[in-house]
Amino acid sequence: MIVSKQKDLSDIIKKIRGSVFIFGCGICSVTSRTGGPKEAEAMEQILKNKNIAVEGVCIIDAMCHLQKVKKAVRDNKDGLSKAQTVLALSCGSGVQSAVLALPDSVKVVSGVDTMFLGNIENLSSLKEMCSLCGNCVLNETGGICPVTLCPKGILNGPCGGMKNYKCEIDENMDCAWVKIYERSVKQDTLEDIKKTAKPKDYSVKKPAASVKFSGSHR
Ligand code: SF4
Ligand code: SF4
Repeated sequence: MIVSKQKDLSDIIKKIRGSVFIFGCGICSVTSRTGGPKEAEAMEQILKNKNIAVEGVCIIDAMCHLQKVKKAVRDNKDGLSKAQTVLALSCGSGVQSAVLALPDSVKVVSGVDTMFLGNIENLSSLKEMCSLCGNCVLNETGGICPVTLCPKGILNGPCGGMKNYKCEIDENMDCAWVKIYERSVKQDTLEDIKKTAKPKDYSVKKPAASVKFSGSHR
């Protein structure tokens, strides 16, 4: 789940040109409460109260899915033809689906800041557990990610600052490496963490990564 937060309203309004069409996202932005039906409707009201014309609102299942955004553009062509700006209430990936699906003459404004990939602990709590490093070490660390859960991203921990099993950066937080150790003991995989981990190969995390699959979905 991509976690986002709404941008400052005055910053959004400053970027809007002419009338607006609002796109929301029906998955991550619903959970983040930044661009589901409720937030899109609230944004419509806010903009109308500021005398900004809103030509339509459309919640797209998943704005990161380019084909779904293209379909929404086709389905809403009348409203979109009157709008000079599309306000996208989705993660940055979704915003750029709108950029790709719309003519270059349409200004696409992002209404949210994209924060992180979060695990849903419950509907009020999301936690970052993987930072998408592209070179996963979970098989060597008892299934707990030191890259994300240790503030220093240490691969051979714990560091010298660990105190009473807590992290020196935040004493309310368990040291990730203590958790890795405890889990490795229970799983009898201590040998894995006794080996010195080599520096991570961040070259696999290329900018603007993409992947193509061969064959079709089953
Ligand atoms: S090592 Fe951590 S950040 Fe990297 S892919 Fe695995 S879980 Fe994600
Ligand atoms: S105390 Fe543990 S979690 Fe905190 S920075 Fe050091 S190794 Fe990482």
